[in-house]
Amino acid sequence: MRPVDKGESPYETIKEYEEALPYLEEKLGLYCSYCEMPIKHAPEVEHIVSKSRGGDLTDWSNLILGCKYCNSRKLAATTPHNKNDYLWPDDDNTAIAYLYTNGFPMVNKDILNELDPTELHFKKAQNTYDMIKLGNVPQKRDKDKRFPQRNMAYHKALISLKNWQNTKDAPETYQNDMKEQIIMTATAEGFFSVWMTVFYDEPEILNALIASFPGTKRSCYDESGKIRKVL
Ligand SMILES: [Zn+2]
Repeated sequence: MRPVDKGESPYETIKEYEEALPYLEEKLGLYCSYCEMPIKHAPEVEHIVSKSRGGDLTDWSNLILGCKYCNSRKLAATTPHNKNDYLWPDDDNTAIAYLYTNGFPMVNKDILNELDPTELHFKKAQNTYDMIKLGNVPQKRDKDKRFPQRNMAYHKALISLKNWQNTKDAPETYQNDMKEQIIMTATAEGFFSVWMTVFYDEPEILNALIASFPGTKRSCYDESGKIRKVL
């Protein structure tokens, strides 16, 4: 789950939370803050603490972007009292909290329990995962598009990796063109963490991905683009 840095509130006050949408788009790009899917239609302002349960309607610190699949599963799960029972992409190093082996998201239990033997962080990561049903594999009549779209991104990332490796001995200009092509594909397909996983051994691409997805929290990654092992 891509960790993001929203920065300072870009507005003093707004009347309707929908007015925050262009700011969120600019800061974070049009991706769901939870599942990382590109939001192609009707992005939704997502309230971290649910608006029906005491969450501030318009305060910048309570807003991120959500897709309809994550939003509809989250519903009104969060309150001011249980917010700390979850990990949040604008607050925590959510990059270290989930693995995307073979393109499928799983809670990174071993690393989380190594970093926090009390298992509290693992539980928070699991709560967030369960809240939005991040690992949902849709059955009949379930219109959830996160799984098939994530698989498509994974497939394209694998092909992109092969193409990138094939330019290793080519003139630098070819490599740069291929890098540009890969970043264009990745930002169009979304699922940042899937690309970061597939390109794990390619620091040049990792750093280009971090720089190209708006709002990615740089401090969660080291200089070679690998996720820092910190909470
Ligand atoms: Zn989503």
